Amino acid sequence: MTIKEIVKSEPGGQIAKAYKFAEVAHAKQKRKTGEPYFVHPLATADILNQWHLDEATIIAGLLHDTIEDTDVKSETIAKEFGEQVAFLVNGVTKLGKIKYRGAEAEAKAENLRKMILAISEDLRVVFIKLADRLHNMRTLSALPPQKQKRIALETHEIYAPLAYRLGMQNLSGELQDLAFPYLYPEEYRWLQVQVAEAYEARIKYLEKLKPVVKKALEDKGINPVTIDFRAKRYSSLYKKLLRQGMDVEKIYDLVAMRLILKTQADCYGALGIIHSIWPPLPGRIKDYIAMPKPNGYRSLHTTVIGPEKKLLEFQIRTDEMHDEAEHGIAAHWIYKSHGGVALNKQKRVFEETKWVEQLKRWQERQGEVGATPDEFLESLKVDFFKDRIFVITPRGEVLDLPVGSTPVDFAYEIHSDVGDTAMGAKVNNQLVPLSHELHSGDFVEILTQKNKKPSEDWLIFVKTSNARDRIRLSLRKKQTGLRKTAPLKAEIKMIVKDRVGLIKDIAIVIARSHVNIEGLVTALAPGGIFQSIKAVCDTAEKQKIERLIFKLKAIKEIKEISYRLLEPQVV
Ligand code: MN
Repeated sequence: MTIKEIVKSEPGGQIAKAYKFAEVAHAKQKRKTGEPYFVHPLATADILNQWHLDEATIIAGLLHDTIEDTDVKSETIAKEFGEQVAFLVNGVTKLGKIKYRGAEAEAKAENLRKMILAISEDLRVVFIKLADRLHNMRTLSALPPQKQKRIALETHEIYAPLAYRLGMQNLSGELQDLAFPYLYPEEYRWLQVQVAEAYEARIKYLEKLKPVVKKALEDKGINPVTIDFRAKRYSSLYKKLLRQGMDVEKIYDLVAMRLILKTQADCYGALGIIHSIWPPLPGRIKDYIAMPKPNGYRSLHTTVIGPEKKLLEFQIRTDEMHDEAEHGIAAHWIYKSHGGVALNKQKRVFEETKWVEQLKRWQERQGEVGATPDEFLESLKVDFFKDRIFVITPRGEVLDLPVGSTPVDFAYEIHSDVGDTAMGAKVNNQLVPLSHELHSGDFVEILTQKNKKPSEDWLIFVKTSNARDRIRLSLRKKQTGLRKTAPLKAEIKMIVKDRVGLIKDIAIVIARSHVNIEGLVTALAPGGIFQSIKAVCDTAEKQKIERLIFKLKAIKEIKEISYRLLEPQVV
């Protein structure tokens, strides 16, 4: 069912209400394609519906651009559609303000992907963002080239990998394919020429084999749900060609045959039947049912030597596995029905749970099949974000800071000069005190004043060691010439063979040299036979210290002795 059909069948429902609301809100806007703007939120909601998402998500999909692009206020959405929908729309609006500028280290892209998850708080916000991005990518050709490049790059480096992590491989692949011609136009044209013929030849070859496979399965009592062909995506084909010397002939999984079967037992049965017809290529049998991929993907893969000695890849899975491979974590989402109209084709019912619990269950399943902790789980661990927040600079860049950080921490993270000259801050466009506690998703702007100096009070509330060190350094500079630095000190280090009364003897020698000991630390030296003793003395007078060391050397248990001057400290 499309959203339009849902609206028709339930004109009094919430989806119909959101449909009209968004249509009116965007009435004056046009897309770059010339169409009415409403086409876009409608397409976004349709995609979410195809992913079997719940009603609140679909409604939020219809409304997702209203706060950003029209006069509609978040409060109005809350009043009309409830807090949950307003929360989702606000989340998408926040994500929309983050811009990835590329040319950054992979670590930074990874950080941004995590941040998107953290800021979203609810995975449904990510789903809406992904559906929004998918439609924008499908209609990217209408935008000016500069914008095309930026959006394609962001999709390639952030959103497609994020979709992959969430197990939405199909979406991830489609996003990569849509981005590919904009990022690598020449390579794309080359590939089209190279591959077109090869594709066609492969499909013809597979068409001939399809009835053979079907009959072999049916003879053994396995009735396939579907048998179809799966062409390798351009983006992944290109990656593979780069590894294989750009020779299209060597890519034998250019088109794979995909069998969708009723049960897991059928899958293993079919694998055996295929191997009895054509010999498998050693090392190419992959059992992702027993050992799912880290992102949850389950399927059997095998490559066989087919007729005419051509290599041929099979992907074998159940309907359920197929649905999961297509929709990933979204396939595990809450399925809700609208007054009897089920949104999903299959009648799987999931109880309504918070997304954190969903994730936990997902993780447990990973644990059961013996998967090791991996990137996917790492990036989704909600705990991981517990002690970090992610905030956004006026340029749309993301900084991650410890929980409890303040605008001062933020300022020093940007640059020490910004920190030193900070005089005020705006968070989400509101003036706040410099001690204000920041939260994930905050947009932070620092107001500076030339020649301003940091205040000692900042040390009370800053959270990052970076800010603390910088403030101290700055204060020290300021105080130079005003106050004296503390007298220099010396630390004497000895390696000794311990005995009863040794420390006392050492202390006496030091005292007779008119040197005060400020601290004395003893520890077992490496090897465990000797002790090391460090004594901090309140003088740095070279003569005095060296005379002292000369005297200490007379104690025969002191095997080694050295000293160093300690850094001056501000008092
Ligand atoms: Mn949008």
